[in-house]
Amino acid sequence: MKARKITPGGQVSDPGRTVHPHPHSALPIVRALKSPTEGQPPAPALSPEQIQRIIDAGHAAAGCDDPDAAPAQRAIELLTRLVATPSPSMHESAASNLLVSWLAEHGLESRVDEVGNAVGTFCTPGEPEHPVHILLLGHIDTVAGEISPRLEHRTLFGRGTVDAKGPLAAFACAAARLATDPSSLPAGCRITVVGAVEEEAATSRGARHIAAQFANCPPSACIIGEPSGADGVTLGYKGRLIARASFEKDCAHSAGPDSTASELAIEFFLACRAIGDRHDSRLVGQNGPFHRLQISLRSMGSSEDGLRQSAECVVAFRLPPGGPPPGELEARVRTLAADLPFNAPGVRLMLSFEGHENACQSPRSDAAARHLASAIRRVFNRAARIKLKTGTSDMNVVAPAFGCPIVAYGPGDSSLDHTPHECIDLDREFLPAIDVLLRAIPSLAQELADPAGDTNS
Ligand SMILES: [Zn+2]
Repeated sequence: MKARKITPGGQVSDPGRTVHPHPHSALPIVRALKSPTEGQPPAPALSPEQIQRIIDAGHAAAGCDDPDAAPAQRAIELLTRLVATPSPSMHESAASNLLVSWLAEHGLESRVDEVGNAVGTFCTPGEPEHPVHILLLGHIDTVAGEISPRLEHRTLFGRGTVDAKGPLAAFACAAARLATDPSSLPAGCRITVVGAVEEEAATSRGARHIAAQFANCPPSACIIGEPSGADGVTLGYKGRLIARASFEKDCAHSAGPDSTASELAIEFFLACRAIGDRHDSRLVGQNGPFHRLQISLRSMGSSEDGLRQSAECVVAFRLPPGGPPPGELEARVRTLAADLPFNAPGVRLMLSFEGHENACQSPRSDAAARHLASAIRRVFNRAARIKLKTGTSDMNVVAPAFGCPIVAYGPGDSSLDHTPHECIDLDREFLPAIDVLLRAIPSLAQELADPAGDTNS
């Protein structure tokens, strides 16, 4: 995460506030908060032989003599290979190359784009009045922290199985099957699969690139690849703002009256949280975490070298629809940071912000939501579970740019996101999600190709 900006000579990044450079500025402690593996390319998780053993185990369990098992086996093989290819944010190239090769082998035009996204696309013949373009936007990066891939019964364990290589592999397999047999799609219908980079970083660089690329010709509909559960559809995500505050001051006797740098950092977090409490106290009738302004302390660190002490905290704001936009919230935080005790003489504050995202929420009547819900009903013989997520995804980045029907869908239990226990059930989640997509994408495309036609799938 790019948090702070310290100009040569120690000028602060906080506009309007200049603190004289100090010989001990930029104490090393603050840097301790960065993840230990940052900057290092990820180590390969497994040898090709080990990967093949997992795949063979999957085949054996599926009964490899069943001809209908072939597509399922190919799907499990793709997912296993993707999961076994580490791709923490900023280190996605190996996984992107793997997906691009697989998409090319399965009938899609594919490439690694200018920012490293894996992209595959195909179009059915014909030049209709309403050409349809459905964008399946997943992400190929994961958070840090390797989980050695393994298969237990029919559950695949590994980093990214749920967030979000399961959803991305399901997109790729559905698109490949439709490219092989496009008979259910309207003429001139384009399907594009994207494995975006840096979704797990505050940059969201992959999605921003896609938003810019399609700004003048937005897709007709977009499905974001995030775990909603194979029988669920996610209509919305909260917005986000990340504040990083670093305090530095001279050491003093601990029995003295002044706040320490650590106390200032804690007071800063508490002051930020009070913003949330004030906001939520005005909420009437809107309940549930999706509609609240949530503030959490993402990380904290402190140290001293006998002369100077320093402390840093990272505060995450989760913004509800209709709540203060990120820019307004940033201004409020800057205002409180300009007050005591944070601007006391001798206190040096470096304040920076990133990850500005507005909340986004599609209606239940959204075309993509309707067709996915109907496909879920046919595959699972029960109603789809409609969800709102307190997290943030690439939907927040592209929804305002595209203005088209958009929801998030994908196999996997999102409560396992970012945990050391990440895994996906192949038979109850991964494979059925491909079936759901194979039904939903064509019916959605047909409706979009013929807006005056039957809206009910
Ligand atoms: Zn994700």
